[in-house]
Amino acid sequence: MTGLSTLHHLSNRLLAVWTKITNIGVTDQTPAKEIKFIRFTNIVAGLTVLAVGAYIPHSLINGSYLIAGLQFIDTLFVLSVFWFNHKGYYNIAKFAYLFVINTFVVLNACIIGSKSGVQEFLFISNVTPFLLFRVNDYKRILLGMAMAMTAYMMHPILVPFFLDYNLPDALQYNVSQINVVMKFILFGMAMYIMAAYNLKGETEIETINHQLTLHTQELNRSNKDLEHFAYIISHDLKAPIRNISHMLDIYTSRFHREENGGKDFLLHSKQSADRMVLLIEDLLNYSKVGKNLPNPEPTDLNQLMRTLEMELAQRIAETNAELIVEQPLPVLTKVHSTMIYHVFQNLITNGIKFNKSEKPRVIIQYTPATTHHLFSVTDNGIGIPEELSKGLFQMFRRLHTTEFEGSGMGLAICKKIIENYGGQIAIESQPGNGSRFNFTLPV
Ligand code: ADP
Repeated sequence: MTGLSTLHHLSNRLLAVWTKITNIGVTDQTPAKEIKFIRFTNIVAGLTVLAVGAYIPHSLINGSYLIAGLQFIDTLFVLSVFWFNHKGYYNIAKFAYLFVINTFVVLNACIIGSKSGVQEFLFISNVTPFLLFRVNDYKRILLGMAMAMTAYMMHPILVPFFLDYNLPDALQYNVSQINVVMKFILFGMAMYIMAAYNLKGETEIETINHQLTLHTQELNRSNKDLEHFAYIISHDLKAPIRNISHMLDIYTSRFHREENGGKDFLLHSKQSADRMVLLIEDLLNYSKVGKNLPNPEPTDLNQLMRTLEMELAQRIAETNAELIVEQPLPVLTKVHSTMIYHVFQNLITNGIKFNKSEKPRVIIQYTPATTHHLFSVTDNGIGIPEELSKGLFQMFRRLHTTEFEGSGMGLAICKKIIENYGGQIAIESQPGNGSRFNFTLPV
């Protein structure tokens, strides 16, 4: 093995050991948001062990056995942090680190002597809480900072008790020379770790944003394709089905007098063809919602309601129904009257249709708001069970298929129109107690 490859091998081994150490306590069950901070704790503890450990030979060479012993004890205490993390006591590990590091920096400074500048390591201790806790965990960060500050304030008070143990000035000066380098290295490392993690976070967010944009584009494209597909299919199918229905009309009138059952078949076929025309037309209407619209114009809902009442007059009279508009309605400026007409027409007709009361009643109510007004259409009809109301706004969803005519597209169209304007629609209903459709529209 050449010298270079041995070095390479060695650095790989060291990196593997370092990765293992920094991941102590991280398991498959560890909450994702905790992982980063457990690693931080291990990293700072690991660096501290290295830094304190590095002093031991220095102290031994200088014959300062007492200090070497102290530094050895420091190292052991810092190692306890790994043990707490390993056991899953993550917060205890963090505070144990802060406590141990602050206490020992102060005690070491007192024993070695103030001229060594060891007490200045407390400035780095003050940075540590920012590495160990999440930024919104401000109480713990403040507590960590308070520990560092308390230790710093304790230093001058404790110094007089340790003067007898202090190293000779020359040695203290010697220690302070190394300390300067150590402080720069540790402080730089703390900054580097924070910057590296910030960069990692930012890069992850950028990647996720990019993926999100791509997905959204893809979704928009496939939505457009689907709508286009629905449009083409319904548009192209309409003419042939209408033709079939028309031809069936002609045949039915020719077989008018025949009693051999052929007429019934024709009638059934005609009904099916007509139903298909209805479905296709509604599908076409659905795919057209929001397309090729002119600019929105002020829409006076009172006027719109008068037109609607006229259009529904015959139906209302036939069913002995009553349409009540509870208060004057607003003028909306950001919508299209044709679309809103469709929504009210659909909901009101449903309120009359799905109704077995002697006097079907549909009430329109409105609550003003600053951005989106709230409207409701309430009926005294048959209602629907709550558990069935969820998918009611899906295309072709019908709950009462045998009793009532319909395509099941009405509510889907209403939802699409309302959501196109940034509004929302929901139903509150109970069987036998009528239904209430609430929806919002921009002011
Ligand atoms: P359609 O009226 O063509 O069946 P809709 O989309 O308008 O289609 O309604 C879907 C289904 O929701 C209806 O078939 C009916 O079962 C139920 N529904 C709609 N409005 C009401 C209502 N006011 N009361 C009770 N059920 C309703």
